[in-house]
Amino acid sequence: MQDEGISDLSKVCSRLGDGAGQLVRLARLVDLDGYWLELHCCANIRLTPLRMLARQKGGQHQLDAVLSRLRCKTCGAPPARVWLNETPHRTFNHGPPPGWSVQLIPAPAMAQRA
Ligand SMILES: [Zn+2]
Repeated sequence: MQDEGISDLSKVCSRLGDGAGQLVRLARLVDLDGYWLELHCCANIRLTPLRMLARQKGGQHQLDAVLSRLRCKTCGAPPARVWLNETPHRTFNHGPPPGWSVQLIPAPAMAQRA
C-alpha cells in the first residue's frame, strides 16, 4: 500500500529516463527509499543508498535540497555528475542487469535551456 507512490515513480523513471529528473528532484528522500545515488567526482564513483541519506538528513527533505549540498569527500567540490539509480549499478556488471537511471547533474533540461 505505501509502495504505491514508489512504484509510480519507478514507472515514470523507467519510461522517461533522464526526462524524469525534475520529478525526481522534487521527491522527498523517504519517497526514494531503496534507490541509489551515484556520484562522480575526481576519479571516484560513490554509491549512496537513499535510505542512508534519509536517515542522515531526514526523510522529509526534497532530493533537490540535498543535492545542492552534496560535496565530494576527496576534493570538497560539488560532484560533477550524479545519477539516481534503481539498482546500485547503472551499467551492466556481473550479477543482475541494471535497472533504470536518471541523470540529475548536470540536469539535461537545464543544459538545453542554457
Ligand atoms: Zn572530487
